Amino acid sequence: MTSKIKNEPSMSECELKDIMTNPLYHSTMEDGFLRIRITHKCNSKCRFCERETRDDKWKNATQKHEVLYDYCKPLYTQIKTLLLTGGDPLCIDESFTFCKYICTNYPHINLMLETNGIAFTKKWQELAADNLIRVHISLNASNEETFFKDAGVVTKEE
Ligand code: SF4
Repeated sequence: MTSKIKNEPSMSECELKDIMTNPLYHSTMEDGFLRIRITHKCNSKCRFCERETRDDKWKNATQKHEVLYDYCKPLYTQIKTLLLTGGDPLCIDESFTFCKYICTNYPHINLMLETNGIAFTKKWQELAADNLIRVHISLNASNEETFFKDAGVVTKEE
Protein backbone atom coordinates (compact mmCIF):
# COMPACT_ATOMS: atom_id res chain seq x y z
CA MET A 1 0.00 0.00 0.00
CA THR A 2 1.01 3.58 -0.23
CA SER A 3 1.66 4.63 3.30
CA LYS A 4 1.03 8.00 4.85
CA ILE A 5 3.96 8.63 7.07
CA LYS A 6 4.58 12.03 8.56
CA ASN A 7 6.68 14.20 6.23
CA GLU A 8 6.53 11.71 3.38
CA PRO A 9 4.92 13.17 0.26
CA SER A 10 2.02 10.92 -0.67
CA MET A 11 -1.74 10.95 -0.98
CA SER A 12 -3.68 13.09 1.43
CA GLU A 13 -5.20 11.63 4.56
CA CYS A 14 -8.67 12.14 3.09
CA GLU A 15 -7.73 10.27 -0.10
CA LEU A 16 -6.28 7.41 1.91
CA LYS A 17 -9.37 7.21 4.10
CA ASP A 18 -11.62 7.23 1.02
CA ILE A 19 -9.74 4.27 -0.44
CA MET A 20 -9.68 2.27 2.78
CA THR A 21 -13.37 2.72 3.40
CA ASN A 22 -14.58 2.28 -0.18
CA PRO A 23 -16.38 -1.09 -0.47
CA LEU A 24 -15.42 -1.37 -4.15
CA TYR A 25 -11.83 -1.97 -3.14
CA HIS A 26 -12.73 -4.61 -0.59
CA SER A 27 -14.67 -6.91 -2.89
CA THR A 28 -11.56 -7.96 -4.81
CA MET A 29 -9.13 -8.42 -1.95
CA GLU A 30 -9.84 -11.89 -0.62
CA ASP A 31 -6.33 -13.00 -1.62
CA GLY A 32 -4.96 -9.58 -0.89
CA PHE A 33 -1.47 -8.73 0.18
CA LEU A 34 -1.10 -5.59 2.28
CA ARG A 35 2.29 -4.03 2.93
CA ILE A 36 2.56 -1.42 5.65
CA ARG A 37 5.67 0.59 6.29
CA ILE A 38 5.14 1.00 10.00
CA THR A 39 8.19 3.15 10.65
CA HIS A 40 11.24 4.69 9.07
CA LYS A 41 13.23 4.08 12.25
CA CYS A 42 16.06 1.59 12.11
CA ASN A 43 18.83 0.38 14.39
CA SER A 44 21.28 0.02 11.54
CA LYS A 45 23.00 2.45 9.21
CA CYS A 46 23.52 0.58 5.99
CA ARG A 47 25.65 2.70 3.75
CA PHE A 48 23.48 2.00 0.71
CA CYS A 49 20.19 2.80 2.47
CA GLU A 50 17.88 5.60 1.45
CA ARG A 51 17.51 6.50 5.14
CA GLU A 52 21.01 7.87 5.19
CA THR A 53 20.03 10.58 2.71
CA ARG A 54 17.06 11.79 4.76
CA ASP A 55 16.77 14.23 7.65
CA ASP A 56 16.18 13.10 11.24
CA LYS A 57 12.49 14.05 11.15
CA TRP A 58 11.87 11.66 8.28
CA LYS A 59 14.08 8.95 9.78
CA ASN A 60 12.11 8.96 13.02
CA ALA A 61 8.65 9.03 11.45
CA THR A 62 6.24 6.27 12.37
CA GLN A 63 2.92 5.22 10.95
CA LYS A 64 -0.14 6.94 12.33
CA HIS A 65 -2.23 5.01 14.83
CA GLU A 66 -5.44 5.68 12.90
CA VAL A 67 -3.98 4.24 9.69
CA LEU A 68 -3.19 0.96 11.47
CA TYR A 69 -6.32 0.62 13.55
CA ASP A 70 -9.01 2.59 11.69
CA TYR A 71 -8.34 3.19 7.99
CA CYS A 72 -6.91 -0.27 7.29
CA LYS A 73 -9.31 -2.12 9.56
CA PRO A 74 -11.87 -2.91 6.81
CA LEU A 75 -9.10 -4.62 4.87
CA TYR A 76 -8.04 -7.03 7.60
CA THR A 77 -11.03 -9.31 7.09
CA GLN A 78 -10.30 -9.38 3.34
CA ILE A 79 -6.59 -9.93 3.00
CA LYS A 80 -4.56 -13.12 3.42
CA THR A 81 -1.12 -11.65 3.97
CA LEU A 82 0.13 -8.61 5.83
CA LEU A 83 3.76 -7.55 5.61
CA LEU A 84 5.23 -5.06 8.07
CA THR A 85 8.31 -3.31 6.91
CA GLY A 86 10.32 -0.18 7.66
CA GLY A 87 12.94 1.07 8.43
CA ASP A 88 12.97 -1.86 10.75
CA PRO A 89 9.56 -2.67 12.24
CA LEU A 90 11.12 -4.30 15.29
CA CYS A 91 12.55 -0.94 16.36
CA ILE A 92 9.30 0.44 17.68
CA ASP A 93 7.09 -0.88 20.47
CA GLU A 94 3.99 -0.16 18.42
CA SER A 95 4.93 -2.95 16.01
CA PHE A 96 4.75 -5.53 18.79
CA THR A 97 1.40 -4.20 19.97
CA PHE A 98 0.09 -4.13 16.41
CA CYS A 99 1.27 -7.68 15.68
CA LYS A 100 -0.45 -8.96 18.81
CA TYR A 101 -3.60 -7.12 17.74
CA ILE A 102 -3.52 -8.74 14.30
CA CYS A 103 -2.73 -12.22 15.65
CA THR A 104 -5.54 -12.00 18.20
CA ASN A 105 -8.23 -10.48 16.04
CA TYR A 106 -7.36 -11.71 12.54
CA PRO A 107 -5.76 -15.15 12.95
CA HIS A 108 -6.44 -15.98 9.27
CA ILE A 109 -3.82 -13.40 8.21
CA ASN A 110 -0.35 -14.62 7.36
CA LEU A 111 1.69 -12.01 9.14
CA MET A 112 5.17 -11.31 7.84
CA LEU A 113 7.97 -9.15 9.20
CA GLU A 114 10.86 -7.74 7.23
CA THR A 115 13.78 -6.97 9.53
CA ASN A 116 17.55 -6.89 9.82
CA GLY A 117 17.13 -9.24 12.80
CA ILE A 118 19.12 -7.16 15.27
CA ALA A 119 16.08 -6.53 17.50
CA PHE A 120 14.58 -10.00 17.07
CA THR A 121 14.57 -10.53 20.81
CA LYS A 122 13.09 -13.36 22.83
CA LYS A 123 9.69 -11.68 23.09
CA TRP A 124 9.58 -11.34 19.31
CA GLN A 125 10.76 -14.92 18.84
CA GLU A 126 8.01 -16.16 21.15
CA LEU A 127 5.35 -14.06 19.43
CA ALA A 128 6.51 -15.31 16.04
CA ALA A 129 6.60 -18.94 17.18
CA ASP A 130 3.22 -18.78 18.92
CA ASN A 131 1.50 -17.23 15.93
CA LEU A 132 3.51 -18.69 13.05
CA ILE A 133 4.64 -15.25 11.97
CA ARG A 134 7.00 -15.40 9.00
CA VAL A 135 10.15 -13.42 9.62
CA HIS A 136 12.30 -12.38 6.71
CA ILE A 137 15.70 -11.45 8.09
CA SER A 138 17.61 -9.41 5.56
CA LEU A 139 21.31 -9.65 6.34
CA ASN A 140 22.35 -7.45 3.41
CA ALA A 141 25.73 -9.18 3.24
CA SER A 142 27.30 -12.45 2.18
CA ASN A 143 29.66 -12.71 5.15
CA GLU A 144 30.22 -11.32 8.64
CA GLU A 145 32.91 -8.83 7.66
CA THR A 146 30.77 -7.26 4.94
CA PHE A 147 27.77 -7.18 7.25
CA PHE A 148 29.56 -5.18 9.94
CA LYS A 149 31.06 -2.86 7.34
CA ASP A 150 27.91 -2.23 5.32
CA ALA A 151 25.46 -2.11 8.19
CA GLY A 152 27.47 0.42 10.18
CA VAL A 153 27.37 -1.91 13.17
CA VAL A 154 30.21 -1.75 15.65
CA THR A 155 32.33 -4.90 15.30
CA LYS A 156 32.78 -7.31 18.16
CA GLU A 157 36.45 -6.31 18.57
CA GLU A 158 35.75 -2.58 18.76
S1 SF4 B 1 18.52 -2.46 7.86
FE1 SF4 B 1 17.29 -1.83 6.07
S2 SF4 B 1 16.20 0.02 6.71
FE2 SF4 B 1 17.86 -0.32 8.19
S3 SF4 B 1 19.56 0.93 7.44
FE3 SF4 B 1 19.84 -1.15 6.60
S4 SF4 B 1 18.81 -1.14 4.59
FE4 SF4 B 1 18.11 0.68 5.73
